[in-house]
Amino acid sequence: MEGSDQLRFTDTRPGPNRRKRGPRTPWAALPMQVVVPVVAVSALLLGGLGLWSMLRSRTVPAEENVRSVFVPSPPPPESVYDTLRTGETLAEVLDVHGFSAQAIYELIEVVREYKSPRSFRPGVVVRLTGPAGGQAEQVLLQLNEDSLLSLEAHTDGWASDVVTVPIRVDTLLLGGLIESSLWYAELTGEVDDLGEGEFQEYVYDLADVFAWKVDFTRDIRRGDAFRVAIERELRPDGTVRSRRFLAIELRNRGRVLSAIPYTRPGGRRDYFDVEGEALRGVFLRYPVPYRITSGFSNRRYHPVLKQYRAHRGTDYGAPHGTSVKATATGTVTRAGTWGNYGRMVAIRHTHGIETRYAHLSSISAGIRVGARVDQGQVIGRVGSTGLATGPHLHYEFLQNGAHRNISTMNLPSAPALEDQYMSEFLVNRDAALDVVSGVALPAAASDFVGPAVAD
Ligand SMILES: [Zn+2]
Repeated sequence: MEGSDQLRFTDTRPGPNRRKRGPRTPWAALPMQVVVPVVAVSALLLGGLGLWSMLRSRTVPAEENVRSVFVPSPPPPESVYDTLRTGETLAEVLDVHGFSAQAIYELIEVVREYKSPRSFRPGVVVRLTGPAGGQAEQVLLQLNEDSLLSLEAHTDGWASDVVTVPIRVDTLLLGGLIESSLWYAELTGEVDDLGEGEFQEYVYDLADVFAWKVDFTRDIRRGDAFRVAIERELRPDGTVRSRRFLAIELRNRGRVLSAIPYTRPGGRRDYFDVEGEALRGVFLRYPVPYRITSGFSNRRYHPVLKQYRAHRGTDYGAPHGTSVKATATGTVTRAGTWGNYGRMVAIRHTHGIETRYAHLSSISAGIRVGARVDQGQVIGRVGSTGLATGPHLHYEFLQNGAHRNISTMNLPSAPALEDQYMSEFLVNRDAALDVVSGVALPAAASDFVGPAVAD
């Protein structure tokens, strides 16, 4: 990762309470075995020619002789990485790294030709290269996701150039045998190519794709399995720029579900089964990806009221602050505090359907009566306002004013692929299934198909 056009996306700065660093002696940057001969040579220079010739004429052991004539090369330039923090300006970062006010001014003026210095967001990586202890002579700045601005000090100012980050595309094949949940799967395939935390992202995405077909909190069994083909765009440092599933197969309770992506011209990317039926429902299966802690019931003991009463909704045990998503596109009909619901949002959808999201800690900006919301849009955050013992989301589904139990309802899927796109989809499907067949769908050991581990 030492190439001049590459950035490591790490913050090398110590601690949050950093101080401006004083000038470092070049020696401090050098290992001891280099420092010793350097000191020796310096002493020789100070001692003058007389001492020099004296030493030369002396008979010394070979090793010592070698050391005395060792002349070090100038210390190699050092690269320091820094990351723009929240509320920090580019000028402040340069100041931390010992740039003079004049140099900062000149540099910022050059940067301005490419991008407003104020528009750099927190997280932007800056690499400074120069002699140890001195002002950097090269500054590499992340302009956007795909390009870097290279600035080099010359006698007449800073020379600038835009460098494109080279992107490599690969296809990752993974299989997983489920032990208890998607999170606890025994992985096979190109496991070594996974970055840190990358598999966890795929778990979220995979659960999203099948959210309408499989309730991952209830329906997953030990011995279920999946295999996926993922196309990734990778940066030189191995971080993932983008990723998308090419195909997914999930074996769940004896059936195999497939998900093949297809983008209608001008439309959004959607997942379909092998026949071209949409996997997505008209409604999302749940507004938060958490376990149901209390289902729909006409008679339930209420922990706060300490009496039996109907529970006309579904509770999800999600932590405080979890984002709550609108389960379908609609219009906000209530947004604010409403009795036992606490802080809540109600949305009107088509077909006389209304959804309610209660006990929120906050309501998102722009969510007010009359506002249009999209499916999956974050409308607020989980809390425990109103009549609630602790943070959870209370979700209600009403049709023509009557509360309905979503876990027993058979809600329609999104429309299947239109006939005019079908032939193209089938070609894509066959290619995608061919790719994913490069990794085996893990088979369950005979003693592995046991009773449900999640219910
Ligand atoms: Zn509830």
